Amino acid sequence: MSEIIRSDTESTPMLTPTDLLEHIWCPRFTWFMNVQHIPQHEETRYKVLKGREIHARRENENKSYLRRKLGVVDKQIGVYLASPKLRLRGIVDEVLWLKDNTMAPLDYKYTRLNEHGVVFKTHQMQIRIYAMLIQEVYHSKVNKGLVAYIRDYYKVYEVPVSTEQATDIASVVDEIFAIIQTGQLPKRTSNRNHCIDCCYRNICV
Ligand code: SF4
Repeated sequence: MSEIIRSDTESTPMLTPTDLLEHIWCPRFTWFMNVQHIPQHEETRYKVLKGREIHARRENENKSYLRRKLGVVDKQIGVYLASPKLRLRGIVDEVLWLKDNTMAPLDYKYTRLNEHGVVFKTHQMQIRIYAMLIQEVYHSKVNKGLVAYIRDYYKVYEVPVSTEQATDIASVVDEIFAIIQTGQLPKRTSNRNHCIDCCYRNICV
């Protein structure tokens, strides 16, 4: 998780998809990072993975067959999206304009689809956050997001987008800001497996 208040260059504090995903993994991550200001040690690993995704995306960005298959009429690459209203921000690999006059985010993942053949929940949430940001920034309809799995030969999967999911995401944003504003220690994660290799386990009481 980036440290939301101190490292944000925007005048309005905004959260990234990673901030939300880590809060869902364990709400105490929000507290350690943004109330106690104790950074995680895993950040370097995340950056390495993200760097690989960016490299792989660059290799792929000129492949026009993908563009035709998805009905893309235009696209922007590596787009910074931010909405003070949603209190969300992030950089999406591609913003797509589709031939049905809607738009969609596309993100590349340096992995394979999970063993059940469905898009990982974390990837679904991330792409839905980008979908919310595109709707807000471009004032355009977004019905779906797209995730391309690089190690599955760039296979692209659709993630449907709905108002209910956007409401759930807005609730997580509210929860995070409530912890930062009150400084109140949240409950531990309900899944104690998450504690096994947690970088805060020695100081989490
Ligand atoms: S040790 Fe467990 S409860 Fe504490 S921060 Fe880590 S995951 Fe959360």
